[in-house]
Amino acid sequence: MKKKIAIVGGGFFGMYIAEFFSRSGHTVDVYEREKTFMSRASYNNQARIHNGYHYPRSILTALRSRMSFPRFVDEFRNCIDDEFEQYYLISNQLGKVTANQFLKFCDRIGAACEPAPTYVQKLTNPSLIEACFSVTEHAFDAHKLRDEMLGRLDASSADYHTGISVDKVRQHQNGLLITLRDVVSEGQEEVYADHVFNCTYSHINYMLKKSNIELISLKHELTEMCLVDVPDELKKIGLTVMCGPFFSVMPFPSAGLHSFSHVLYTPHYEWFDKNESPYTDPYVKLNADQKNSAWNYMRKDAMRYLPILGECRYQRSLWEVKTVLPRSESDDSRPILFRPHHGLRGFHCVMGGKIDNIYDAREAIIAQHLVE
Ligand SMILES: Cc1cc2nc3c(=O)[nH]c(=O)nc-3n(C[C@H](O)[C@H](O)[C@H](O)COP(=O)(O)OP(=O)(O)OC[C@H]3O[C@@H](n4cnc5c(N)ncnc54)[C@H](O)[C@@H]3O)c2cc1C
Repeated sequence: MKKKIAIVGGGFFGMYIAEFFSRSGHTVDVYEREKTFMSRASYNNQARIHNGYHYPRSILTALRSRMSFPRFVDEFRNCIDDEFEQYYLISNQLGKVTANQFLKFCDRIGAACEPAPTYVQKLTNPSLIEACFSVTEHAFDAHKLRDEMLGRLDASSADYHTGISVDKVRQHQNGLLITLRDVVSEGQEEVYADHVFNCTYSHINYMLKKSNIELISLKHELTEMCLVDVPDELKKIGLTVMCGPFFSVMPFPSAGLHSFSHVLYTPHYEWFDKNESPYTDPYVKLNADQKNSAWNYMRKDAMRYLPILGECRYQRSLWEVKTVLPRSESDDSRPILFRPHHGLRGFHCVMGGKIDNIYDAREAIIAQHLVE
């Protein structure tokens, strides 16, 4: 039967789920509080399409990535940059995996991994880098992805609205009433939906708090992703030193620059959403932050491993709140969060730890037979 579905959040997850329901014959409205879609975490990230390599400490996340990578690359072929070489480097100091362990891990997950060419090895400081591997991993262009998703929404019957914050949800008859707030005029109205999907990532607890629904335990980090101009030798190269307190520099296609992130300096600080603690709105916290760049620390540390990185020219930083499940802290896993009927019948919370997790989210939604 045709249902009325409200999607809260116009990031990649909200847009994809909206298209899915619209194509299944339901009436769908997407509400996004910003002026444009995919302007929060779906833009402010490293743009890596994970293919498993990043997760030697979580075999499940690695294997799920291996499955979703080819699907994502195939479905979003026009939004992908696969014209650069991606290298994973293993440090012989402080690393959580050795070169041998990494090779065995790649073998176990069936991911291609070859010794890197000599010209790449020559870029490294051999007293700190044990091995360099050539791997298969790409980047996505977040602007192209947004435009692709907007095109798909236009082609479906979904309606979408920007500048609208959904503040509250409450049970009403067989469905739900949500409170919409125009972020400019502050005008409010309540609208009915049979199902509401809360796809607001770091902001997932905002609606819950305002609606007196139990919060979901989450860990937040205030993050800085630097965008840099790399020397010519690195223009078509991505480098990730792992696994431990290291860094990555790789193409960021939507800006024509490279992203530069560091495990120690990208997260500036962290906090947790817990029921027993006062709630902090992550967006308010991000706006209030002074945003003092840690670029010089990142650069200085990275140069020890790859001296050429000292020649990177800093352009600007992307600041965002990164949200993970508290249990990801120990093994760096990235499962989806899916809470059907969270606190209210018909109210569902969905969060993907990474972009390609959209397939896990879609499968979880289908498996629950939520909307029939
Ligand atoms: C620093 C960093 C690096 C990352 N690197 C990678 C990477 O390399 N590869 C990868 O796959 N993933 C990466 N991720 C994770 C990835 O960005 C997220 O998994 C993904 O973007 C989540 O998409 P989303 O649609 O759930 O969230 P978002 O894109 O944040 O979308 C949520 C939307 O909800 C809107 N919203 C919030 N509250 C309300 C409300 N009350 N009413 C209406 N709208 C609302 C927001 O404005 C926002 O547009 C990274 C994340 C960060 C922060």
